[in-house]
Amino acid sequence: MIIYTGGTFGMFKDSSGVLKPFDFSMILEHLPALKQLLLEITVISFETPIDSSNMGPEQWVAIADIVEKYYEQQDGFVVLHGTDTMAYTASALAFMLQGLEKPVIFTGAQLPISEPRSDARENLITALEIAAMKNNGLPAVPEVCIYFGSQLLRGVRTRKAESQHFDAFESENYPLLAEAGVKIELNQEAIRKSGKAPLKVLRKFESRVAILKLFPGVSEALIRHTIALPGLRGIVLETFGSGNAPSASWFIESLSSAIQSGITIVNVSQCPGGMVQQGRYETSRELAQIGVISGGDMTTEAAITKLMIGLGEFGMPEVGQWMITPVAGELS
Ligand code: ASP
Repeated sequence: MIIYTGGTFGMFKDSSGVLKPFDFSMILEHLPALKQLLLEITVISFETPIDSSNMGPEQWVAIADIVEKYYEQQDGFVVLHGTDTMAYTASALAFMLQGLEKPVIFTGAQLPISEPRSDARENLITALEIAAMKNNGLPAVPEVCIYFGSQLLRGVRTRKAESQHFDAFESENYPLLAEAGVKIELNQEAIRKSGKAPLKVLRKFESRVAILKLFPGVSEALIRHTIALPGLRGIVLETFGSGNAPSASWFIESLSSAIQSGITIVNVSQCPGGMVQQGRYETSRELAQIGVISGGDMTTEAAITKLMIGLGEFGMPEVGQWMITPVAGELS
């Protein structure tokens, strides 16, 4: 099944030269090759296709609802999605679709399908082939992935790293799940093993959260104002290197009082590779002592979507355990 949500893949230039999404029936005109694949393809489209900058929990739930509704009938799902927030949606879906045993492959394009040099055609056709692949009669890739620019990546390990070139995504902390050349070569070791769990969908999100990126010279006012946001429930703190932050007393005291007042704080690194190790340096030891949760080697995209679901579904204090437990292969 193809789930079409929008993105550059199906965009066209309007009279003012601005790119806007169009409906899927027009895409099929550009893809006669789809008929040559020996696959039975069903297409479901968002009523109004959107630029992925407009995606959020409401749309994530809409995608999960479609997967749940057609889960028994379909061998796999390809979600056509804008690249800008694809890593967030793929991460959210990986946490939402508990017990997933079938492929959910996100893909899109850097150039609209209507352009002669577009990457859309190859991305969609290979994503469909991967979604339909079987291994001993079982789905070969039973997890939420991103297929883009010849590479299959674990969705929850991925970030958008490139806005111009065709290889738009990277997964620094986890190996590729497959590479597509003349053949599609699966990296069996890295792919999640199939189990027998029934699908269960988590749908509750807490939106009163923030991502706070540190920088040298960050002001006390910024930190204090962020923490004082009415109703704030959680923060993903983007720190330096292996999880380090200023050791000024106002900084530690602000975070500590936030945690005391029930705000969950998760530490992820600004480095795309490597991991948070609180306590390795003096500048991170106190974070551990005041109760900041280590996000290990999670991406920011994984950490924020996991935190939103954890707070929405379980709340305090269970969210702490949820954040440090690998749920969808997001943590080493
Ligand atoms: N702005 C577009 C989107 O994310 C970019 C893309 O699809 O590549 O929807």
